[in-house]
Amino acid sequence: MHLARFPRIFLAHLPTPLERLDRLTRELGGPEIWIKRDDCTGLSTGGNKTRKLEFLMAEAEVAGAEVVMTQGAIQSNHARQTAAFAAKLGMRCHILLEDRTGSTDPNYTGNGNVLLDRLHGATVEGCAGGSDMNAALEAAAERQRQQGAKVYTIPGGGSNPTGALGYVNCAFELVGQLNDRGLAADHIVTATGSAGTQAGLIAGLQAINAGIPLLGIGVRAPKERQEANVFTLAAATAEKLGCPGVVERADVVADCDYVGEGYGIPRTDTIEAIRMFAELEGILLDPVYSGKGAAGLIDHVRKGRFRKGERIVFLHTGGAAALFAYDSAFSEAAAAVVAA
Ligand SMILES: *Cc1c(COP(=O)(O)O)cnc(C)c1O
Repeated sequence: MHLARFPRIFLAHLPTPLERLDRLTRELGGPEIWIKRDDCTGLSTGGNKTRKLEFLMAEAEVAGAEVVMTQGAIQSNHARQTAAFAAKLGMRCHILLEDRTGSTDPNYTGNGNVLLDRLHGATVEGCAGGSDMNAALEAAAERQRQQGAKVYTIPGGGSNPTGALGYVNCAFELVGQLNDRGLAADHIVTATGSAGTQAGLIAGLQAINAGIPLLGIGVRAPKERQEANVFTLAAATAEKLGCPGVVERADVVADCDYVGEGYGIPRTDTIEAIRMFAELEGILLDPVYSGKGAAGLIDHVRKGRFRKGERIVFLHTGGAAALFAYDSAFSEAAAAVVAA
């Protein structure tokens, strides 16, 4: 598979480490749990968007863009990483942020990723919850173009076939690490949102016939819709790679039972998972994505769906910058424990 055919700006810290989680494994008493540290990709506290942006921002550069524009939820990690990448390339960055949670906590609206968006010099514009964000993005881009700017727009989460190439690359990298170390993996588990991560991974895994099932843990949409979104994007990504048809619908599996009240609203098990990784492994998860992904992983182990003797790789997609926007979720949980 020849990824070097596609324009790319090499900026991520790769390969990210693959580490065994000994204390979490012992605590849960089930399969051997490993972690692929895509929280360590670099670029303004890291995370999965760095890999996608290597391909997306290269396309922007080839197109001669002066302004890059994207959209996301208020605490979007994708927005923060796009702002940082644009700063590195000397491009302007404008971001549309949707109020998806209705939170008025000043840390939610101004700390964490929002603080970093502004620190990287991006301009930020708020949008009401439930807006058609891709339409709003195109309208905002059109206004910039009318003023003569060369604009490149990136969809939410960087999830299109170009961005998903970053996770095709991750699939190759991970399978290479497993092979080099003689580690046979039984499952890969990761959080899934705008679908590019899961779609790129599955396209990459299928393209090399890796034979490792991938489980996405949903953070927003219900199962049917999430799987359909991932499948559509995975099929388009495989086509872009030059191997159309390698992904079948049955290869795409998402479990969306850990979303809770909605996107960006952590559940009790989200907070528990964050605390377990922090206390047992010294690793920071986040309350929107990786915390829900890890809650799904832990629940699958506790229910015996992943068993002793198996080896599981949890792909850590990053997001810890958002912890500083969600401090109240931790103090409330702490208070509840004391009261109980
Ligand atoms: C965006 C994001 C995800 C989800 O990845 P998608 O490609 O949007 O499905 C997971 N974890 C973190 C921390 C993210 O920022």
